[in-house]
Amino acid sequence: MARKLAAGNWKMNGLAAALAELDTIAAGTGAEDGPEVALCPPFTLIAAAAERAKGGLAIGGQDCHAAEAGAHTGDVSAAMLADAGARYVILGHSERRQDHGESDADVAAKVSAAWAAGLKAIVCLGESLEQREAGETLEVVQGQLAGSIPEGADAENLVVAYEPIWAIGTGRVAEPPQIAEVHDALRTALSDLCGAQIAEATPLLYGGSVKAANAAEIFATSNVDGALVGGASLKAGDFLPIVEALH
Ligand code: PEP
Repeated sequence: MARKLAAGNWKMNGLAAALAELDTIAAGTGAEDGPEVALCPPFTLIAAAAERAKGGLAIGGQDCHAAEAGAHTGDVSAAMLADAGARYVILGHSERRQDHGESDADVAAKVSAAWAAGLKAIVCLGESLEQREAGETLEVVQGQLAGSIPEGADAENLVVAYEPIWAIGTGRVAEPPQIAEVHDALRTALSDLCGAQIAEATPLLYGGSVKAANAAEIFATSNVDGALVGGASLKAGDFLPIVEALH
């Protein structure tokens, strides 16, 4: 059985005042019998967030560079994230793949860097609407999985998030049978890649317009161990009910 995880992705949202929201989220998480909860604010808030979250709520980054250090203006290394108190990093989000041209190989290099720095990688994958309509969904996500996960995965350092691009920020949620088909296929593909034991214990998250109203149905779906939540993670009043649904 994989551990349960609710992860929030604040994307490029959040000034210092948003830390008050994070405080409320932190206060509402960390119960011994509850799921693990992680929040990934922008780089600028990570150190302050980690300081305030005090362990119960894990803090993560939204990207890192593949190199340890060097002449990469504007980039942030995995070691810098860990140094600031992050325990997770989201890698290969479709917005990074689209906006920054990140390939599977780029993502795999970043995952290796994250692991070297002691971070857990939340590796995102998902098909576009065109790919789904062309019947290519499973082929696409299986290819992304194989290409984005380097040697060295274990159930402690890896989380996989299935995020159909057409469901991100659109209010359009994949139907449970669509989610189940992909998650079942990903569990099998992960088993082929890393062995059955690691595959069974690796959290598989669904992401794409998850909110309080649909969370319970999604969490009851085959091979769904939690969610990666964008818009609904910005406010404690939206995010905490999702965490509650995962109990
Ligand atoms: C995301 O970007 O990871 C995401 C799932 O966003 P939203 O929940 O807003 O669709």
